[in-house]
Amino acid sequence: MEISGLCNICGKPSVLFTCILCGTLVCRNCFDIKHNVCIKCHVKS
Ligand SMILES: [Zn+2]
Ligand SMILES: [Zn+2]
Repeated sequence: MEISGLCNICGKPSVLFTCILCGTLVCRNCFDIKHNVCIKCHVKS
């Protein structure tokens, strides 16, 4: 299932992914597909 809306990091309208750590909906550019986390959480880990 694809969710589309506004990315919570860059604010652009796009297909969104859910970060498994913080639950934030973010676009492909702001998401690490390998780890299923947003770029914010990925920086921390
Ligand atoms: Zn984004
Ligand atoms: Zn996150």
